[in-house]
Order: sequence, then structure tokens, then C-alpha cells
Amino acid sequence: MTPPNLLDTLRERPLLCDGAMGTQLQLRGLAPGGCGERWNLENSGLVEDVHRKYVESGCELITTNTFGGTRIALNRHGLGAQAGEFNRAAAGIARRAAGAKRWVLGDIGPIGELLEPYGELTEAAASAAFEEQATALLAGGADAILIETMSDVGEASIAVRAARAAGAEIVLATFAFQRGGDAFRTMMGTSVKECIEAIVAAGADVVGANCGTSLSLADYQELARELVSHAGSRPVMLQPNAGSPILVDGRAVYQETPEQLADAVSEFLRAGIRIIGGCCGTTPAHLAAMAGRLIPR
Ligand SMILES: [Zn+2]
Repeated sequence: MTPPNLLDTLRERPLLCDGAMGTQLQLRGLAPGGCGERWNLENSGLVEDVHRKYVESGCELITTNTFGGTRIALNRHGLGAQAGEFNRAAAGIARRAAGAKRWVLGDIGPIGELLEPYGELTEAAASAAFEEQATALLAGGADAILIETMSDVGEASIAVRAARAAGAEIVLATFAFQRGGDAFRTMMGTSVKECIEAIVAAGADVVGANCGTSLSLADYQELARELVSHAGSRPVMLQPNAGSPILVDGRAVYQETPEQLADAVSEFLRAGIRIIGGCCGTTPAHLAAMAGRLIPR
């Protein structure tokens, strides 16, 4: 049993994706800087609990706990050899929580190293790592692959093509933008238009933005309109942070309330966004408040 085709459903109605995972795992005891992907094997019940809270909040797209799950990223914890195992397990956990009517997005984040010529990571190595991760996520039961928080348009394009090569029928890809002067750009200086055009050419079905750390909700509304203007017929996804983090006792604290994020939802929908979720600092309470504005009752 699998949910209906995601792209068909998006033509009928907007959908709510889930919110942050990392901060939720930290609330359940994951040490800051610890390897969250390891919990897919060692603390699977707690990972499933986070997914269930988002399901109960009304989220229909559930994202696997695999943001740092490429072999290369896991190697920084000495755990690269378990990449396949972690990702397969994560997709299974998300599937259990999501059931047969919601969608499981197999989550892929940046590798965390610079590609040649700026760094030492080769395209072949990046591609192999992404394809290995996507293959394991799909084997574990993911319905689609979500490539997110990308700053390097080259890396994002490699990841989209690798997900396709792994057999993903649907690929979503989102970038982290910030304000550079009067325009939105990635940390590496790439414009919204260039990013969207590149990942569409690479084969992405859904395009968008997440994790704009320095962006206000007003910025996100402007970014939403810009994304939609460049996306053509592709559905656009937006996952804002709960505001910009401030440091309190050495910990990042996000200040926007569930009500503030919920108030932004109708503006996002008016801009043409089809998938709305939350990034850093969002909680099941934020998503529940957003669901109240998104889902007709
Ligand atoms: Zn984020």
C-alpha cells in the first residue's frame, strides 16, 4: 500500500510537510554535534515518536532522519560504513509513522565538503555518495527523495541526478537562501533564478527553499513569490525557520511562535506555494498551528 502520486495530489491541493528533526532529537537526549542518523538503529522508537508528533499535527509529508546520511558526512563520525543501514532503517521508521496515506520523503542534505575546484570533493565521489544514500532510502520505503539546505548549485544538481539514477520517481530540491544586497542568493552567491533553472535541468520535480537562517517571515513571503516566478509549472516548496536563531547560554533559540508562522501560511499559499513545512526551530506545535490554516475543515 502506497499513497497516491504526490505530484497528482499537489495539483489538487497544497500539502503540509513536517518540521525540524534535529532539535526534536536533542530534546530527547541527542548530544549537540552527535550523530542523529545513528539513532535510526539505536533509538528508533524516539525517532518514530518525533515523526508521530508531526503526523498528529496534521503533516502529510514525513521527512526521514537522514539529513547527514551520506557516507562522506557519516565518516566524520567514523560511521560511513553504516550509511546503507542507517538510511534504510530511517525510511522504515518514517513509513511506520506515516502509514499508507502519507508520503515519506527520503531526506538528503549537503555532504559538508566543497566540490572541486574550491575543495577536494570530486563530482564522482559526491555522485556515488548521493546515489548510495538515495538507493537505501528508496529500498527502505521512501516515496520520493528530498534534497535540501543546498548552497552549492553544482552539488544540488549532482544530488538530483544521483537520486534519479537511484530510481527515484519524484525528486524535490530546495536551497538555503539569504539576502545578498537587495536579492536572495545562496551562501555561494547564486541567484534564485540560476538555482531553480539548474535543478529543473537536472530533473527536479519540485523546487524551493528551506532554512534561510537570516530571513524574516516578510523575507520568506518575498522569496516565495520569486521562487514561483522562476519555477514554471513545477510545484514550489517552502520550509521557513522559526525566525533567526539567537544564542542563549550557548544554545540556538528560535523565537517565532506557532501563531506567527501560522499567520504567514495564507500569504505563502497566495504566492503559489504548494508544499509548506518548517525548518530549524519549528516544532510539532508550529506545524499544528500551520495545519489549521492549510487544511480545510
Ligand atoms: Zn534548517
